[in-house]
Amino acid sequence: MVRGSENPGKESVSNFPKFAEDDENDTLLFSRWEEHVLNNCPNPERIGCPDYETLKTFVETPRKVGLPELHGDHITHCSECTRELIELRRLREERLNQPAQVPQTRSWWGWRPAVAVVSLCLMLVAATMVWINQDAKSKGPVPEDGIAEVTVDLSADGVVRDSEGSSVDKLISLPRRLVDLHLILPYYSPAGDYRVMVAQGRNSPPVRLGQAIATSQAARTELRVRLDLRDLRPGRYYLGTKHDGEATTYFYPFTVG
Ligand SMILES: [Zn+2]
Repeated sequence: MVRGSENPGKESVSNFPKFAEDDENDTLLFSRWEEHVLNNCPNPERIGCPDYETLKTFVETPRKVGLPELHGDHITHCSECTRELIELRRLREERLNQPAQVPQTRSWWGWRPAVAVVSLCLMLVAATMVWINQDAKSKGPVPEDGIAEVTVDLSADGVVRDSEGSSVDKLISLPRRLVDLHLILPYYSPAGDYRVMVAQGRNSPPVRLGQAIATSQAARTELRVRLDLRDLRPGRYYLGTKHDGEATTYFYPFTVG
């Protein structure tokens, strides 16, 4: 098959064959897809490519980049962009896997370790508060009806929504139970520490708060967090996710029923 540089391959990842042996994140599908694009969609003249900064932002904070800046679905059929995205993801992973322990040669009480100690204390306080909160709840007169395992897939959300917020058209619904939430984050979300919260409005204080470590494979990032929704009143809420490396919390409307 010959593809000119002006008309790279136009298949879509959703048309790509699924693999029976693949995991639930379609890791194999994505890596085969990337391999396919690398081998079959040359674009040496970089026709229609978004600039490097846009690709970098897409990898670091995908929600800040919309389809227009990405020039539509260009990156799904351009080997040069795919190569850059793979490299940018590798750099990001490398950075995230390197905890802030680089310059530790000075005095132990230098400012960097001090910041680390303060952060650790804050995390412990937050964890204790969450624990106390959950402990207090678990002593309430709540029927023991087990833990609900729920998977919420936000993976396509980062690409299609604008900066105003979620475009999730099917409203997420969570039961009024102790919920083990398996959250698939928007494509290319960074791995690492996340705060997951439930709030009644985007500007309201959280009524439930959890912490989780997200892992990513290829384009997929996911986390698991337990949320106690047993004594929330039924109604509409927002599920908020905030990566520790970012200032913004992203909200997704959902109902508790
Ligand atoms: Zn390109």
